[in-house]
Amino acid sequence: MTRYGLDRDALTALLADEPAYRVRQVWSGLHERLSSPSEMTELPATLRARLEERLTPDLELATESVSDGGETVKWLWRLHDGALVETVLMHYADRTTVCVSTQAGCAMACGFCATGQAGFDRNLSTGEIVEQVIVGARAARGSGRRLSNVVFMGMGEPLANYDRVWPAVQRLHDDVGLSARHLTLSTVGIVPGIRRLATEDLPVNLAVSLHAANDELRDALVPINRRYPLSVLVAACEEYLAAKGRRLSFEWALIAGVNDRDSDAVELAAIARSLHAHVNLIPLNPTAEYDTPGSTAARVRAFRDLLRELGVNATVRQNRGTSIDAACGQLRATAVTLS
Ligand code: SAH
Repeated sequence: MTRYGLDRDALTALLADEPAYRVRQVWSGLHERLSSPSEMTELPATLRARLEERLTPDLELATESVSDGGETVKWLWRLHDGALVETVLMHYADRTTVCVSTQAGCAMACGFCATGQAGFDRNLSTGEIVEQVIVGARAARGSGRRLSNVVFMGMGEPLANYDRVWPAVQRLHDDVGLSARHLTLSTVGIVPGIRRLATEDLPVNLAVSLHAANDELRDALVPINRRYPLSVLVAACEEYLAAKGRRLSFEWALIAGVNDRDSDAVELAAIARSLHAHVNLIPLNPTAEYDTPGSTAARVRAFRDLLRELGVNATVRQNRGTSIDAACGQLRATAVTLS
């Protein structure tokens, strides 16, 4: 049983021979105070020792890298079976965000993404996902900040691991105390997952990695589009909006000459306007197996300006962690090269 892999019932069973209030103490210690069992000084020493032994962490640190003057921290974790995943913590003036992985590797095979290039290993467990957030929150607290946001934008496709990701979302909301509007699931466009999300109680933010606004180009960039083409994806987004009323956002990695032309902006604007979606632009980060470079800074600005002229809310995302391969789409590239 791992520290964040157990649920409340499992903890209750583990503490069956203790007074009932211990369950609440340990549970809130783990999730609200972010404590390891040995730090729970309100517990008798023997119980602390027993819990420390029984509730082992899922994440073993392989490497930690720091960039952007300490404002970006990347951790590479080795899991019990040797799988490697990464977590990135980013401090901004007004918020601190942790970007978590939901799978070791990814089966979606987007050619421009380092994780996609490396293929799929396995789904992460709920405990492995929650623990990434706890570690991020502890580190934030250690530098005098408070973790405010969680984005499921690390390695893997969250909606392809729905049954473990959603319990993690609920735990972050119910037990860690993060509000739904500070939790963002990012998807390549798994339509059944978006539909299922629309039936959940918690109105989390939904980000869709669009990258192309016509099927021909999207089929090439994001292979899952062949299964769930744009018309179906847009309909699922409409359903989510109608059910949750949360702002939808589109991610768009600008690739020179591929999806950064004026005509791409015009096609994107039509879809974004119809869904009142916010567009996040980011120049494509370089990866080993994809030759075409990201758009130039000037082209990124021109694309943004054109979207704005067309009535779309568009921002250029700050590019964090490039020097430590922690930027979007780059996760695990270096680790895989080293291993
Ligand atoms: N599978 C999910 C979440 C992980 S990817 C998804 O597709 O949304 C997180 C974001 O990084 C996605 O928007 C993805 O398209 C983007 N991304 C992947 N490779 C990138 C790269 N090389 N440069 C910039 N963004 C990239």
